[in-house]
Amino acid sequence: MLRKLLTQTSSRRLLFSGVPPLFSKSTISPFSSLSSSPEPPSSESPAVEHPGTTISIDRSSLYTPPDHSHESTPDSELVKHLKSIIKFRGGPISVAEYMEEVLTNPKAGFYMNRDVFGAQGDFITSPEVSQMFGEMIGVWTVCLWEQMGRPERVNLVELGPGRGTLMADLLRGTSKFKNFTESLHIHLVECSPALQKLQHQNLKCTDESSSEKKAVSSLAGTPVHWHATLQEVPSGVPTLIIAHEFYDALPVHQFQKSTRGWCEKMVDVGEDSKFRFVLSPQPTPAALYLMKRCTWATPEEREKMEHVEISPKSMDLTQEMAKRIGSDGGGALIIDYGMNAIISDSLQAIRKHKFVNILDDPGSADLSAYVDFPSIKHSAEEASENVSVHGPMTQSQFLGSLGINFRVDALLQNCNDEQAESLRAGYWQLVGDGEAPFWEGPNEQTPIGMGTRKLKLSEKETFFLTWFISQ
Ligand code: SAH
Repeated sequence: MLRKLLTQTSSRRLLFSGVPPLFSKSTISPFSSLSSSPEPPSSESPAVEHPGTTISIDRSSLYTPPDHSHESTPDSELVKHLKSIIKFRGGPISVAEYMEEVLTNPKAGFYMNRDVFGAQGDFITSPEVSQMFGEMIGVWTVCLWEQMGRPERVNLVELGPGRGTLMADLLRGTSKFKNFTESLHIHLVECSPALQKLQHQNLKCTDESSSEKKAVSSLAGTPVHWHATLQEVPSGVPTLIIAHEFYDALPVHQFQKSTRGWCEKMVDVGEDSKFRFVLSPQPTPAALYLMKRCTWATPEEREKMEHVEISPKSMDLTQEMAKRIGSDGGGALIIDYGMNAIISDSLQAIRKHKFVNILDDPGSADLSAYVDFPSIKHSAEEASENVSVHGPMTQSQFLGSLGINFRVDALLQNCNDEQAESLRAGYWQLVGDGEAPFWEGPNEQTPIGMGTRKLKLSEKETFFLTWFISQ
């Protein structure tokens, strides 16, 4: 077992040795695409003013993307589709609608047709950094199962499982707890057919019927089902939900205070046929969610608010999760980078480990926004009196309290030098703060900790976890 795990760690080590250096979504700092030159206003909608941001950004170590190319390239299918929506709608679309199309459009969305993770992909996430991440989440799920009185049947749901690495490590790590693994029905909520296939492979699934939507993972003999949404997952049994770097992909609406009050930032097509940001001339339906979010803001936050980013989809999803857990029992763990505060303007685009302009070649870059942790807490509390919300806390605190130090020590007992280096680097990336002090390899490959993360945008920004459990 250990050998198997170590071999796996060693193969993941390749992820650290790529050139150019890797940046995690969690170890790079965002800057707003609004730094691109503002467009002149159209007759219907004023162009967005440069945001008077209230936070200072250290861009010294960031890659600066080149300005838009002036060479005209033919529009991609997704660009044509977005332009046709704007044309037939007779006006701009919200940033949220743009984001949703760019990421999950069935034909050409960023996630839909390929593996976007790792050195060859666009970004890297914690489960891909080290097997210890999935193992520790496994410890959390077993503890909760014990607390629930060891129910005979549990739905273990993962939202947005990517390659399926977290779930595979969780199953390997918990496989000795037979009663636990035998109780599990795994439900993967995944919109991408390409990633569903990868999850099927990585969980070493064999198909139970001709339908690929149901299979058995040979890692722990567990049934696995795939769904497009959480609503499709059957209810009525205790449920454990894991969402790692899923919320950051849920669409956000952006608002800006103007002389006309709060206006929503929208995406339009300019006279030069390029996308550009404009402001809505009047309130939009999403303003209802803005008002709700503002009621949860602190008086200091309300005073300073000039730009606000909200994710109604995240609020609704959290409510759905809290209602389910409140009535069926269980818990949900949400892990993402974000802030324990209202968010002003965090949306960023990442392609091949570099920041690019949000409006540039949509569908070819990931779009990701900070997670608004207070809004998760309030949404869950509002939806059900039967859940208690905990956190947010940093990834480093969470993994530390679950015993990652013991796990890394145990793995280090029995590995070669190369594997040990990889384990230490992975450990540091998960729980360290800034650059790894022990690193002796090339500078550009220095592991950067995401546990409390190198703060660039503001002191509050970090990789957080929050969870709620049935009472
Ligand atoms: N949890 C993984 C992957 C994070 S990337 C990891 O940490 O490595 C986001 C994942 O969510 C991808 O699997 C993507 O296809 C999926 N996803 C994004 N938006 C989705 C949506 N609206 N519905 C279902 N899956 C979605």
